[in-house]
Amino acid sequence: MVSKSKKPHFGHESMHTHSQSIEAAVVERSKATAAHILETKGHDVVSVRPKDSIHKVTEVMKEHGIGSVIVKDQNGHMVGILTERDIVRGFADEPDNTFDEIAEDLMTRDVVTATPETPLLVLLHSMSEGRFRHIPVLDGEHIAGLVSIGDVVKFRLRELEYEALKLKQMIVG
Ligand code: AMP
Repeated sequence: MVSKSKKPHFGHESMHTHSQSIEAAVVERSKATAAHILETKGHDVVSVRPKDSIHKVTEVMKEHGIGSVIVKDQNGHMVGILTERDIVRGFADEPDNTFDEIAEDLMTRDVVTATPETPLLVLLHSMSEGRFRHIPVLDGEHIAGLVSIGDVVKFRLRELEYEALKLKQMIVG
């Protein structure tokens, strides 16, 4: 199960309900879970330390071509998540000082996580409700991987292509 901790705010309740029903319709037949997504994506998770500067974090994100990092303490425990959105917000608030701030200044501490068994539909709903695009997958204490909205869409597209191929084979014989 996804552990939810953020209270989402929706400006357009009807739009939200509409998009949720589309998501549900698209994925309701999928049996896919977070573990399936990580099987194709891999289990690597890029992390930084709480005292790393935002300048260093941007270099890490650039080097790996990613938009989020997990923040881990010296014992390897996750203490937060920091994404490009936090950094943009930091620059909007403090244009002159943000590069010198540190990861723990801007990270989100209350991280919503999933397990390998979490269904793809639940991952999508959590991202949609919480308005974020990344979910770390925890296998017990261990971080088994990180699923982004892009990973979910990519996986689902492959499923749809496979389903279309199967249908075509049924028709052609
Ligand atoms: P994102 O859309 O993932 O770039 O994140 C938008 C905001 O949500 C940022 O403030 C992130 O720190 C935060 N955030 C991202 N992923 C999570 C998560 N799994 N749990 C809680 N907050 C998150």
